[in-house]
Amino acid sequence: MRKLVFATNNLHKLSEVRDIIGSRIELLNLNDIGFNEEIPETASTLEGNASLKSSTIYKKFGIDCFADDTGLEVDALNGGPGVYSARYAGAENDADKNTAKLLGELISTTNRKAQFRTVISLILNGSEYFFEGIVEGVISREKRGNEGFGYDPVFIPDGYTKSFAELSAKEKNTISHRARATQKLYEFLLKV
Ligand code: IMP
Repeated sequence: MRKLVFATNNLHKLSEVRDIIGSRIELLNLNDIGFNEEIPETASTLEGNASLKSSTIYKKFGIDCFADDTGLEVDALNGGPGVYSARYAGAENDADKNTAKLLGELISTTNRKAQFRTVISLILNGSEYFFEGIVEGVISREKRGNEGFGYDPVFIPDGYTKSFAELSAKEKNTISHRARATQKLYEFLLKV
């Protein structure tokens, strides 16, 4: 079976991606290859950060790998927090603080439209390829549900009344930004 490193130690992400491509490709995470450092996400775009993560691993280990970067892009915040979603409420990636800040910023806003956007950078035999996945929705007025992670409790995908954190992992994984980007990655890998 082909081996591919997913440059993450986020177990939620790993399990989401494994559900889509795990049966045909053996996925390793950073822990599995003994890489325990933080890769600084210093680029100003999702593409740039995804690329920083995949190329750091490729340069160090010389193995085929991919990395994702995700942003929550809110209409009323001109696309913010976007690439800064993890650090929206401060240096540490604190989901409670980030969602509380977002709900606070939008408290008197009627335009609640937002989208999650994921970009995957794949490095295969030294060449880089990008895949994008988007899911549109709205920001709720309060947190709902306990599934998932990050901004899931405040994001209601279009066509649904439940937040991502109220949907099962399986349901989220049929429509999510990461699932859509991963599906494109998977289809590409089947062809090469
Ligand atoms: P990163 O891709 O891990 O850098 O994620 C950026 C920010 O978006 C972090 O605060 C994550 O918690 C959040 N995030 C990433 N993916 C998701 C998701 O699927 N649902 C909710 N929040 C997410």
